[in-house]
Amino acid sequence: MKPLRLALCTLLLLQLFAQAQTPALRAGASAVDITPKVFPLNMPGGFSANLAQSAHDPLHARALVLDDGTTTLALVVVDNLGAGPDVLDEAKALAAKATGMSPDRMLISSTHSHSAAPLNTRSEPAAAYRKLFVEGVAESIIKAHAALRPAAVGAAAHPLPDEVFNRRWYLKPGKMPLNPFGRLDTVKMNPGTSPDVLDRPAGPTDPDITIISVQDAKRKPLALFANYSLHYVGGMVGGQISADYFGEFARVIPSRLRGDENFVGMMSNGTSGDINNIPFGVARPPRAPFEQIRIVAQKAADTAWFAHQKIGAHRNDARLGMRQREITLRYRRPGAQDVAEARTVLALKDPAAIERLPRLAQNYARSVVAAAERPEETITVKIQAIRIGDLAVCGIPFETFVETGLDLKKRSPFPQTMVIGLANGRHGYLPTPEHHQLGGYETWLGTNTVQEDTSVILTTQLLEMLAELRN
Ligand SMILES: [Zn+2]
Repeated sequence: MKPLRLALCTLLLLQLFAQAQTPALRAGASAVDITPKVFPLNMPGGFSANLAQSAHDPLHARALVLDDGTTTLALVVVDNLGAGPDVLDEAKALAAKATGMSPDRMLISSTHSHSAAPLNTRSEPAAAYRKLFVEGVAESIIKAHAALRPAAVGAAAHPLPDEVFNRRWYLKPGKMPLNPFGRLDTVKMNPGTSPDVLDRPAGPTDPDITIISVQDAKRKPLALFANYSLHYVGGMVGGQISADYFGEFARVIPSRLRGDENFVGMMSNGTSGDINNIPFGVARPPRAPFEQIRIVAQKAADTAWFAHQKIGAHRNDARLGMRQREITLRYRRPGAQDVAEARTVLALKDPAAIERLPRLAQNYARSVVAAAERPEETITVKIQAIRIGDLAVCGIPFETFVETGLDLKKRSPFPQTMVIGLANGRHGYLPTPEHHQLGGYETWLGTNTVQEDTSVILTTQLLEMLAELRN
């Protein structure tokens, strides 16, 4: 071989080698305003109507798109009580059409803000909002995808134990009120704060704030995706739309990481089905409207900063992977006795007799009859598992109990695992079988609708998916 040709061959080989070594990771992030423009709108999440006439602070769809040259995936957080698979699938289809991404590589989770807007078509403002929401969520993915650039990622967790409380309690003897079915549960949700009533909490909390940090090629902060197992905070101005502490976190976090105006911070909901921000048994001083939201958001941002400090060097060679499975679950059916009792409760006409019923008796009687008459035997739900380097992310479309999140984190084959609730849908509460035995609000038929071992089935499936991604 002539020397020149040899030199050229060597050069070509070196180039090929360099290409194989070139870090392929790219990332893009965006935040799209999805605040409603037409009012009034009902803010869903309670047992009675809660009308909003304006917005206190904006709602957003925030997207992070990652691409390693082989896999392109999106992590999206939307300010909503819990978007269903119907609306989310519409948004995913729009985003897929514009970006060429696959809808099963998109994880869209709701924050579970109880002061966000509805997603139905029961009024003209609501129908207008549903359209705005679908287009806004799609746009967030499209914009993040268009912003893809060379990037590096890191993940870590740091605890913030002071703002999470298990809300299910054993009570002192004789203090348990009748449940809506006229029976006694073993534990009660939100039992108040009186030491005369409270015995002990019926479960743990998950204190960790887990983060994914994304930097561009020049180590400039690009995005931060956080996760905390806290239901929501509340205590805002009445009659106004608000993104709760999730929105406030996104506003505060750029200052912690010195992110510029293009930086996108987002806080997702973890496994908070039995966790809230009420310090049971301890007196908290009164707060002005929105003050507690600000306090929790600032502490969460500080904690995310401490987690960020643990990351060290971000990696531009992190491998991505994603799995989605569709799991078919049986709907719970009430027994004949339960249905008969429910029909009796609903047949009552005498106001005095209705007054004597346990709290919410007629609401849950309607749920029992609806569950008995439901034509479908099963429901199929989507679960997802994602790998981002050494971090695993699980997506569960329920208000998942903290026990399930802690269990997945403990048994995951990855050093760091994040579990996102209300991901890709909202199919009610997901208590563990042990909690079904204890009863309480989250286990009542209507609040929970699927077979009682669902958390076990989903955990087994997710661990299988994580094992596949680890290989
Ligand atoms: Zn909830």
